[in-house]
Amino acid sequence: MTSNSIKLFDHYFNKIFAVSQLALLIAVIFEFINSSYYLASSLAGVFLVVGLGFLVLHNTRPIATLILLLVVHTCLATIIMWLYGGIHDEILIVYPLILIFAALLGSTKLMSFLFAFISMAILSNGFVNHYGFYQNSTQAINLQSAATVNLILLVIFVCSYFSAKSIKELIAKLIDENEKILQSKREIQKIVHQDALTGLPDRVKAEEKFMQLIAAQSSENNKVALLFVDLDDFKNINDNLGHQLGDKFLQLIATRIAGAIADVGSIYRIGGDEFIILLHCIYSTAEVQEISENISKVVSQPLTINDYHLSSCCSIGVSLIPDDTEDFESALKYADIALFQAKNAGRNHICLVNQKMIERTQYEFKLQEELRKSLRDELFKVHFQPKLDLVTNKIIGAEALLRWWHPTLGKITPTEFIPLAEKSGLIHELGFWVLEQSIKECIYWHKHGNKRLVIAVNLSPIQFNSPGFTKSVLQLLGRYGLSESFLELEITENLLIEQNEAQKYNINMLAAAGIKLVIDDFGKGYSNLAYIKKLNIHAIKIDYEFVKGMAISSDDRAIVTTIIDIAKRLGIESVAEGVETEEIASLLKQLGCKYAQGFLWSHALESTAFRQLLKEKN
Ligand code: C2E
Ligand code: MG
Ligand code: MG
Repeated sequence: MTSNSIKLFDHYFNKIFAVSQLALLIAVIFEFINSSYYLASSLAGVFLVVGLGFLVLHNTRPIATLILLLVVHTCLATIIMWLYGGIHDEILIVYPLILIFAALLGSTKLMSFLFAFISMAILSNGFVNHYGFYQNSTQAINLQSAATVNLILLVIFVCSYFSAKSIKELIAKLIDENEKILQSKREIQKIVHQDALTGLPDRVKAEEKFMQLIAAQSSENNKVALLFVDLDDFKNINDNLGHQLGDKFLQLIATRIAGAIADVGSIYRIGGDEFIILLHCIYSTAEVQEISENISKVVSQPLTINDYHLSSCCSIGVSLIPDDTEDFESALKYADIALFQAKNAGRNHICLVNQKMIERTQYEFKLQEELRKSLRDELFKVHFQPKLDLVTNKIIGAEALLRWWHPTLGKITPTEFIPLAEKSGLIHELGFWVLEQSIKECIYWHKHGNKRLVIAVNLSPIQFNSPGFTKSVLQLLGRYGLSESFLELEITENLLIEQNEAQKYNINMLAAAGIKLVIDDFGKGYSNLAYIKKLNIHAIKIDYEFVKGMAISSDDRAIVTTIIDIAKRLGIESVAEGVETEEIASLLKQLGCKYAQGFLWSHALESTAFRQLLKEKN
């Protein structure tokens, strides 16, 4: 260890040695000028001994040189301490420096020895002075002592500078070396195409095997199946029990699957918890189904790691070769499409890809592209559907509903494009744009005589994921000068139940800022009442399906009656959406529902048409 440190710090050690020798030389001259000949000659002696020692020993025995340097300097400092000011002598500040170098370059033994020696020297000096056996002179503070202290400090300063510099250089070198090692490890992995964790071959090997299987495919009607296997909820294991345990879990699962398909296919790891399986010779989809079910079964069997009893399951997407494609990339993509369907169907599902699925995915992919373009080209429009007071029959506000007319694809409904905007992340930009248009429109109404109109804007749960969402809403209101109380945000029940930290934060902050939160499509989801009070919900919107059914179904009527009653008891407003007939409007009025919207009064209108309607009605 010691010789290693010296080797690593060799350059630095030479500098420190030179600095200490230079300081000694200055001290010799200094003392000589001061006529302290005795001290000057002692220092000169030390200078010569250490210098000679360095010349003779440095190349062959670096440790001995270090010991010589530190021991001689410790002795010198101790002698000076004893001869002059005792433990009040300024020379004492050399000790920490000596101990630091012993720690950096020498061994623990050397450091402990020096510490014990210094400690004893100080204690014994204190002892003899205390009991009067020996008396050190109390030195007057003068320019000479100040110069000595400064000289020692200068040596400490220069030595610390060199120490820090070489430690930093050393760390940079180590980081560099480490990166090189990692890089070569990655390159080796690439060459062998083997996953380091599970030992399974990787995607490149899967493609190679795929090509071989295609080439060898006979005309006997046999097929190849590509299975895309993804563990459900593996993230939970990683997040809750740590990556080490997660790694072990993956290794065990990989071994299990490999064992289950050993006779019929081969397995490859292509990502965190994603595996490809190639079934080499298949004659029917029933056979694929059976093998896939067997894989699901072995994955779901519980296992124990470090006393944790774990269980998981997997979703599987399948594409068939040559039925679906003969190209590896497409086979993988189609299996991935099927996997997505399997995941959507809930956990632990198997799904074989079909043409409809492929077309649907391709269409959705195209729509996502078009969404981006249309947002850029301003092809979206916000329409406004009036919300009425059932008693006065006056418009009290409106719901902003987004509209998209695509130049070639035609009218696309929000129920179709909103989920795609959510999937692609475009919902943030799109949602913000809707909010801005809505606030601007509301300001217009206020300026033209409808001062109490409230604008309701639908929000996607995804929009609540960004921690800065509330701030941007408040900034927008501030920019256009609309008070928080004129903005209603429509959210779904699911958001309230399954919220994450960012969503929770935004919901609370929005409510605290005085923005009205409305639960949309109430009754359709879990309808958990606890959060209504907890989150200071302003109103619930009774789902269209129940409202529509009121006229014909006693069940729906009972549900609507109950919802209105709950709202009344909780002191919040109820709004009925999707009112299409006078009959339903008067039923709602009888039940005590105060507000409603629906085609009975108006569809969602373009802003100019809505403004006209306002003029006529209010
Ligand atoms: P929603 O918020 O429940 O909006 C009400 C939907 O019911 C609207 O459909 C509206 O046109 C329709 N509607 C209103 N009155 C009647 C009626 O009397 N009868 C019938 N049959 N339908 C009626 P739309 O515009 O197609 O919107 C569907 C959903 O898309 C909305 O449901 C909302 O969840 C979502 N959406 C619309 N615009 C946006 C938006 O800007 N952002 C977000 N995140 N979602 C939006
Ligand atoms: Mg709504
Ligand atoms: Mg609704």
